[in-house]
Amino acid sequence: MKIQGTPVVPGVAYGPAVLAREEVPAAAIEAFASVTFPDAAAALSAYDDAAAAVADGFAAKAMSVSGAAAEVLAASAGLARDKGMRSLVRKQLNAGEQLLPSLQIAVEHFAGMFTQMGGLMAERVTDLRDIERRITARLVGVAEPGVPVPVDPSVLLAKDLAPSDTALLDPSLVLALVTGLGGPTSHTAIIARQLGIPCVVGATGAGRIADGTWVLVDGTTGLVVTGADPEESRTLAADDAVRRDAIAGWSGPAATADGVHVKLLANVADVPTAQTAAHAPVEGVGLFRTELSFLNRADEPSVEEQAAIYADVLAAFGQGRHVVARTLDAGSDKPIGFATHKGEENPALGVRGLRLSFDNPDLLDRQLDAIASASASSGVETWVMAPMVATVAEAGEFAAKVRERGLKPGVMIEVPSAALQAARMLEVVDFLSIGTNDLTQYTMAADRMATDLAHLTDAWQPAVLQLIAMTAAAGVTARKPVGVCGEAAADPLLACVLVGLGITSLSMAPAAVRPVGAQLGRVTMADCRRAAEAALAALDPEAARIAVRDALA
Ligand code: PEP
Ligand code: MG
Repeated sequence: MKIQGTPVVPGVAYGPAVLAREEVPAAAIEAFASVTFPDAAAALSAYDDAAAAVADGFAAKAMSVSGAAAEVLAASAGLARDKGMRSLVRKQLNAGEQLLPSLQIAVEHFAGMFTQMGGLMAERVTDLRDIERRITARLVGVAEPGVPVPVDPSVLLAKDLAPSDTALLDPSLVLALVTGLGGPTSHTAIIARQLGIPCVVGATGAGRIADGTWVLVDGTTGLVVTGADPEESRTLAADDAVRRDAIAGWSGPAATADGVHVKLLANVADVPTAQTAAHAPVEGVGLFRTELSFLNRADEPSVEEQAAIYADVLAAFGQGRHVVARTLDAGSDKPIGFATHKGEENPALGVRGLRLSFDNPDLLDRQLDAIASASASSGVETWVMAPMVATVAEAGEFAAKVRERGLKPGVMIEVPSAALQAARMLEVVDFLSIGTNDLTQYTMAADRMATDLAHLTDAWQPAVLQLIAMTAAAGVTARKPVGVCGEAAADPLLACVLVGLGITSLSMAPAAVRPVGAQLGRVTMADCRRAAEAALAALDPEAARIAVRDALA
């Protein structure tokens, strides 16, 4: 059986499939239906015990890991103990409802609410359903569903993975990850990239593979194959292991085989991620997502508080490296209490990013003051760019404010109108940075969070590549830097295409830097140009990937 999915993290793996258990067995649920509680209080107490056990399980796991994984697990523990959920369960029980339906009604209520809020909150629906399954399992007396810990190195197959599952994966036991749902920017993809595990998402049909079946996974092509020749598969995986060793040893700076320098930069979210990224072989930060430091804030942080955070991020990148700070990209998938407009019908097309400054210019001014102050105190070269820019006038006004403060202005190219106007944008700013995640979403009119639209939210789509080509060409003509800071920069094959189109820097999650750097070192600039031509000539993402692989072979 051959299944085509969306390749996310390159690498070849061959191993037995281990299936993540997703559902509580129906028989156990049916048997529980005949269990009766003396009264609503007794049923609520059973709920409390099960929810506490689930929360304690998350909390215990959180203790055994650190960083983002620990935060994800601690958040899940909090959600399992949520008072709002408990009171809704109690309300149903008091109204005479059985325990499991009460739990379902409460979960549906919150899932609906989160979905409506959109963005990051909508992503929490996966956590919520994970918690529902775990509480249900505890109530009916079976083991909590989730990812089994394999005894031998295995390929993990799942419909979708909850953050609490992926946070705990052991890369020495999980050879590859394959999910039926999910797109290139899904949570599974981000964690797999961080761990460096070959990963294919959106592999519809992977659910037909039985536990224990030997599977060959190619995270470069997106192919998941059963029944492949074992000898050949083992050789492919072993060859790939050699390639991965070369990647692990790559130390930068990046250049093509014929010596054309390409700046590799890190995407960072806050002070801790900046400090970690500073150890990667990067020449600075290409995207500091400033809004991510303030996701849980109801009130705007003062200029001084902002300046202190920015200064710490900048300080991590002294010694001749530079940092590109992006002004607040609040709104849509990143709602922020003190900035986002409430109740928008269509927040992805609403007042997000730079648009927040239209009726609140002081918010932008205060942030720029804070960035300028951090830049001055740290002495680190600081560039500043605005997200969600649609017109040249917006770019011009933003650039004036940035220049007034002695900083270097740029804009993100995330909206097709901005890409189409790239040459004129470069008349008013000093650099461009293409946000391929949003540029793809807006070009293809496909929500980047929609797991069932993964084939459209793919930066290899020819329409997206054309807009990137146009933007890069404008940069070449104007002799100004044009970088890419969306997920596309982290794809080693696509990185060659981008360089061939004239892109001068690639900014990505630190885990992607070595694979991209090693790949660029294997090809010449002429190879990259040929790859770019091949990609632009292809009719769809799959054909583009094949054509580029052939062009670089
Ligand atoms: C992008 O849209 O590609 C981007 C880098 O910005 P974000 O992912 O933060 O929206
Ligand atoms: Mg964006």
